[in-house]
Amino acid sequence: MKCSFCDEQALYVRPYDKLALCHEHFNGKMQKRVQKTITRYNMLKRGDRIAVGVSGGKDSIALLDILHKIEKDFPESEIVAITIDEGIEHYREEGMHYAKLHVSRLGIEHHVFSFEKDFGHDLDSIINKLGARGKDRELGACSYCGILRRNILNKAAKEVGADVVLTGHNLEDEAETILLNIIRGDIQRLGRLNPTPRKIHESLVPRAKPFRATPQAEIVMYCLINELEYQEIQCPYAIEAYRGDVREFIFKTQEKQPMLCYNIVRGQDKLLASIKEIKPKQELRNCKECGNATTGDLCKTCWLKQQLDN
Ligand SMILES: [Zn+2]
Ligand SMILES: [Zn+2]
Repeated sequence: MKCSFCDEQALYVRPYDKLALCHEHFNGKMQKRVQKTITRYNMLKRGDRIAVGVSGGKDSIALLDILHKIEKDFPESEIVAITIDEGIEHYREEGMHYAKLHVSRLGIEHHVFSFEKDFGHDLDSIINKLGARGKDRELGACSYCGILRRNILNKAAKEVGADVVLTGHNLEDEAETILLNIIRGDIQRLGRLNPTPRKIHESLVPRAKPFRATPQAEIVMYCLINELEYQEIQCPYAIEAYRGDVREFIFKTQEKQPMLCYNIVRGQDKLLASIKEIKPKQELRNCKECGNATTGDLCKTCWLKQQLDN
């Protein structure tokens, strides 16, 4: 099949609009969508020092590659890569390898932080102590990891002097998060899921997701045709059944309804305009231990530290 825009052979046909794309036009569309997303939601300002969370997986590798191309037109902005070593044996080493490979290929400044060094315990030892599944269904490996990753990524961003943190969350990830908040009836959190990075607390560096309109399949394709190697194996702790069900629903339904995730994400954008009026149940306060943003007395990181010290 021929590319819809030129005489070259098409490599990919987008399921939602049937556009056939050659290598060059595929790359062009990918980059343009990221640019449009950044502009649409005011994700970046001129001269920003931009921290990108790079795990070594497909999303972060592709994002770093595309941002590097885009930023060539904005020499006053600067990209720095941040990788967090959770301390997961037989898993993190490979991701770290790919993160380092691409960061140095692109000549980007790289900073590595770790659970061990920056929190005092690595994930393996946390799980050993607290169990892969806590008593509460909400707690377990992925939530401990999530709490610490968010905390350390923010700390890292502050340390490297970043104005904004970008992560590789894609369209399906975003749709999944929206659906989960709806399923839980958590309208407060839905209201906080704002695509425009904002300073919601003095301790937090604003964050954004430039891939929130980019489907996972296109990210995989981008890595494939541009020969970007990445870590493919899943984290050994990725067993969160609850989140898994929603993910399965998304990918199954998407086969018949290719616009599904776009509709969910666009729906959220429209909803935001009206749920903004809902006042947050609790204002963000300063954690009494570390001063970071929290709704209670202790932030989740300090709470986790307490659990481990008990
Ligand atoms: Zn073409
Ligand atoms: Zn704290």
